[in-house]
Amino acid sequence: MQSSPTSPVVLASGNAGKLREFSQVLAPLGLELLPQSQFDVPEVAETGLSFVENAIIKARAAAAHTGLPAIADDSGLEVDYLQGAPGIRSARYSGAGDAANNAKLLRALDGVPAEQRGARFQCVLVYMRHADDPTPLVCQASWEGRILDEAAGDGGFGYDPLFFVPDQGCSSAQLDPALKNRLSHRARAGAALYEALRARR
Ligand code: IMP
Repeated sequence: MQSSPTSPVVLASGNAGKLREFSQVLAPLGLELLPQSQFDVPEVAETGLSFVENAIIKARAAAAHTGLPAIADDSGLEVDYLQGAPGIRSARYSGAGDAANNAKLLRALDGVPAEQRGARFQCVLVYMRHADDPTPLVCQASWEGRILDEAAGDGGFGYDPLFFVPDQGCSSAQLDPALKNRLSHRARAGAALYEALRARR
């Protein structure tokens, strides 16, 4: 039996985990995600002031370089008490990696009571048919939680040890990885993109 043809789409990320996750979500639509490393897409400066601007910048650069449709995501942690910081600066909040980012966040929230420690992970996913696409598909999803007083768990990455997930009663670093992949902001944005692409066919 012949398998149905797939359409290539470039993923504007070098992260193998994201490639796997988003590939699974989009495979039923006949889309084959290819990492931008396959095409030597040059790093682009994320000069936007919001997740959506940065996702568009990355998707546009990947589409322009490859001539293929492109998908890009941008994500981060938004803390209410800090007016949305670290936000788009989540990866570079301290300038010294995940452990220093977490230490800086704990210092910024020192003495702040639990009810004022609300936070969420945000993920924006953008799909562009080509670099000049005037109507990119934009899907945004979040994952609500709050910031703990101290780190808990050693799974995940980034701010996971400080991110308490109320429904699960533990930090996202303490979740089974498969469960985190179902609950997360990325999973929810991926599901929204699947629906948006399906609806546009
Ligand atoms: P990126 O846009 O996926 O590279 O994420 C930017 C930054 O947001 C990461 O470097 C982390 O600091 C933070 N972040 C995004 N998603 C997560 C998550 O699922 N857990 C913990 N930190 C995250």
